[in-house]
Amino acid sequence: MVNSLQSPAQANYWLVQGRILFLALYALGSACFFYIVARRLMPLLRAQRDSRFDRPLHRLGRVLQFWLGQWRHPRYRVAGIIHLLIFAGFIILATRAFTVLALGVSENFAMPGLSGNAGHIYGVIAEYASTVVFLCMVVAATRRLVFKPARYAVPARYGKGHPADAIFLLALIAILMAADSLFEASKAAALVQQGQAAEVMPVLSLGWMFTRALAATSLPVLQNLHLGAYLVHGLTFFFLLCYRPFGIQFHVETSLFTVFFAKLDGGTLKPVRWDVPDEKLDQVKFFGVKTFEDFTWKHMLDFYSCADCGRCSDNCPANAAGRPLSPRFLTIKARDYAFQHYPMFGKVGNGKALVGNLYSEDEIWSCTTCGACEQECPLLVEYIDKIVDLRRGLVDDGNVPQSLQKPLKALESRGNPYGKLEKKRADWAAAKDFQQSCPVRLVKGKAADTLYFVDSITAYDDRIQAIGRATARILHHLGEDFGILGAAERDSGHDVRRFGEETLFQALRDHNTQAIQASGVRRIVTSDPHAYNALKHDYKDVPPVEHVSQVIAREVKFGRIKFHPAEKGKVYTYHDPCYLGRHNQIYDDPRSVLDAIPGLKRVEMKRSRDRSFCCGGGGLMLFYEPKEDERIGVKRVRMAAEAGANVIVTACPFCMVNMEDAIKVAGLEGKMTAIDLAELADQQIVKETQLAA
Ligand code: SF4
Ligand code: SF4
Repeated sequence: MVNSLQSPAQANYWLVQGRILFLALYALGSACFFYIVARRLMPLLRAQRDSRFDRPLHRLGRVLQFWLGQWRHPRYRVAGIIHLLIFAGFIILATRAFTVLALGVSENFAMPGLSGNAGHIYGVIAEYASTVVFLCMVVAATRRLVFKPARYAVPARYGKGHPADAIFLLALIAILMAADSLFEASKAAALVQQGQAAEVMPVLSLGWMFTRALAATSLPVLQNLHLGAYLVHGLTFFFLLCYRPFGIQFHVETSLFTVFFAKLDGGTLKPVRWDVPDEKLDQVKFFGVKTFEDFTWKHMLDFYSCADCGRCSDNCPANAAGRPLSPRFLTIKARDYAFQHYPMFGKVGNGKALVGNLYSEDEIWSCTTCGACEQECPLLVEYIDKIVDLRRGLVDDGNVPQSLQKPLKALESRGNPYGKLEKKRADWAAAKDFQQSCPVRLVKGKAADTLYFVDSITAYDDRIQAIGRATARILHHLGEDFGILGAAERDSGHDVRRFGEETLFQALRDHNTQAIQASGVRRIVTSDPHAYNALKHDYKDVPPVEHVSQVIAREVKFGRIKFHPAEKGKVYTYHDPCYLGRHNQIYDDPRSVLDAIPGLKRVEMKRSRDRSFCCGGGGLMLFYEPKEDERIGVKRVRMAAEAGANVIVTACPFCMVNMEDAIKVAGLEGKMTAIDLAELADQQIVKETQLAA
């Protein structure tokens, strides 16, 4: 194709030849960018180690799914679609941007493989891509300025939002797209005027509109537009490149790495130090995160990658209840800290304690570790490990909330948070009439096939003991050879660990591991999702564990459990416990049990399955009373009422405590009840005698 206009490489800009000007611009722009990124990487080089290089193929698959495939974005329909379009546009336009930049140095440059017809086809696609990106910028700016989705708002306690910054960035991208199209369109308009073959501008694209608008423009003006658009494109490109690492747009560079290095296994917790085995922890100077540099490099990378979309906080129950915690700002504050203390020039780091300066203690203790934030984040940013690390740091300094001190002491001395005697741990099963119908034996010394791991709340709480008896009756009904550890069992330590008391957790874990190994059982069943999660992920060298809902679901499927019809007039809804659902993906088994009860009417709450809303937190959270506007559990029972349910079924003793409490606080007594899945199943099971009759 004949080029009727002088190319940017040949033209003179203020007496400097374009080729030289653009070479200098690219060299300067690239040097600035690499310098900025090198400074941004400085805290990562001073950070704690992290182990993120295992299972590279699996990680690659997740990059394809979550980064390239933008898997989680459409969970928020409008914003998700806009982001998908922008991302796809950027991927398509990466080649074009490089080609356009190269034209400033070499006027006839064409990407290998993109000359001839392939180049024409790519040109059409790229022209539409830049039009779509341009329109997305307009829509995104309108959303920010006019519709203002609530999740973008910045509550006063977290400082000020930066809407002007967001609009400025959107405008820069829009300018980049427009300049690119104008550069092509001015050339096409000139060729058409001269009766020469021009690049096809696809209908309704920006380039097409510019070409039509410029149809009658004189050649000298077209020449100036052509060169001016090129210069604006080059300057905007490098300005954007160097400006992005100063704000949320840095995620464009870092997100791929954040997704690649993201945590692979739900329900797990990072060790105190990745490079120190448990038996050498006594050699570690201190536990947890106290200063910024105590975070791992991956956690610092998370801070840079957050796009400030607010989805995490939008789903955080602590945030919804008005607790002083917003995961989004946990990240944004840390990112701002990194920017402030690792500036572009001069001294770096200040080594000040984070809690008390950047974060408040209440903020750190407010998290229920429900995982909703991590489930929602499109970039797989992690929270629980960071929060637990900050708690470890507080515990290391002896900074434990008053209300938790007594239960933690009791756990240390008696193995349960209530301070009750070990020998009373099996009392829930001791009643004569219960033992006659459902003999529960101790496995100590007499090997059984299955261990029912009861855990503290089910063993000692008067109300929750009923769940223990229901579970035992189901196992008995199934003819399982099962037993319990009784006084030899200690608290699983699940929530002790998540409250940052690693040493105590390890003592509890080691005690239980020895007792389980000594019992000779081949499998473990528990009715407590927290115990389930601990035995599955926090313990090593113990037999495989199942939650009782899995056992019931399997036996229903094989026809070994049959149910009486459900009570009429009741509408049930299932509340997913966080440590069964989100952390371990057990969503279907409990629902299949409910659906197997003839005539049972079940409705779903708006927030269910992986978007379930925490009950308020289990384990030690029951002993902690944070400041909040409304209890998390109260919000949850209101959601059940909104769904039209009058019975909340759950499968976790802690959810049961929170739900029954919340029903009273919400004034729904008499209108709403809560029941555990094991209790309901036990109530509805058709016993052998009934089957025979
Ligand atoms: S784990 Fe749950 S409570 Fe904690 S920050 Fe995330 S969403 Fe909020
Ligand atoms: S952490 Fe993830 S979900 Fe939360 S604001 Fe940042 S990008 Fe959005």
